[in-house]
Amino acid sequence: MTIILDGKKVSERRLDLTAGRIKESGLHPQLATVIVGDDPASRMYVRMKHQACERVGIGSVKIEMPAGAATGQVLEEVSRLNRNPGIHGILVQLPLPGQVDTNQVIRTVDPNKDVDGFHPTNLGALLAGRPVFAPCTPLGIMILLEEYGIQTAGARAVVVGRSIEVGRPCAALLLNADATVTCCHSKTRDLACITADADILVSAIGKARFIEAQHVKEGAVVIDVGINYLDGKLCGDVAFDAVKDRTRAITPVPGGVGPMTISTLMENTFKAARIQECGSLF
Ligand code: NAP
Repeated sequence: MTIILDGKKVSERRLDLTAGRIKESGLHPQLATVIVGDDPASRMYVRMKHQACERVGIGSVKIEMPAGAATGQVLEEVSRLNRNPGIHGILVQLPLPGQVDTNQVIRTVDPNKDVDGFHPTNLGALLAGRPVFAPCTPLGIMILLEEYGIQTAGARAVVVGRSIEVGRPCAALLLNADATVTCCHSKTRDLACITADADILVSAIGKARFIEAQHVKEGAVVIDVGINYLDGKLCGDVAFDAVKDRTRAITPVPGGVGPMTISTLMENTFKAARIQECGSLF
């Protein structure tokens, strides 16, 4: 019997847990989001993040900048938020418009407030096996695996995708959790041979229903990060109907990884508030 890894249900429980812990702590965590331009998907994600903040008792402010904003203007906003002691977490919604130097913006966020975990200091700590803030989507995946009692130690894990936001940090987190990890990408040869060996297969490609039955080992755990639209319908990277019955457990899209990303962002923001009240870790 295949287990459907219900990210929606788990994230709801985690949000309630975080709300309780925030209340108990007496802290007043605050998250600032920076959004440049008016991409509808980015706006929707930011809105969902602010709704989650409200639900768990995290204050939030939204900095909206015009689509034509220059790198310097974005850096100025981020620096202002860095200096504001009332702001514990800063999230710059990606992707930024082409004229903005994304790397420079990411590097400017104070690592102590980097709740997205993209700053090189945080990525370095993750790679060294001592993460402070790990990126929310891959950390959410690890929490989901843990919540369902899926063992990573000794497992063969294959991550398809090597982005800074998902693939690379996911591979690092799985390695930190004692899995034997292979990270694949668009230049990987014989992809299906590699993925078909995975006990845990994570797909973060961004191609609708790309992962088919031939890519999946009987009894594997399949985590679908993809958010794609096919004929106007939301779907993942995995051909769910063709793959599901082969798996021991699988995430649906929607309702799998997506909600976990949001609840993990809330956990990271609360952590940032605790760190800042107790002194910098860096
Ligand atoms: P990305 O930056 O575009 O990275 C895609 C990765 O997939 C790249 O490393 C690319 O390889 C690899 N790839 C592309 N085609 C491939 C192929 N045919 N075979 C093997 N590898 C291939 O995307 P991303 O930001 O990591 O996001 C991936 C997907 O996850 C997207 O659909 C995105 O919307 C979704 N996402 C979901 C959440 C969530 O919360 N659910 C969060 C973030 C992202 P190269 O490096 O060689 O180009």
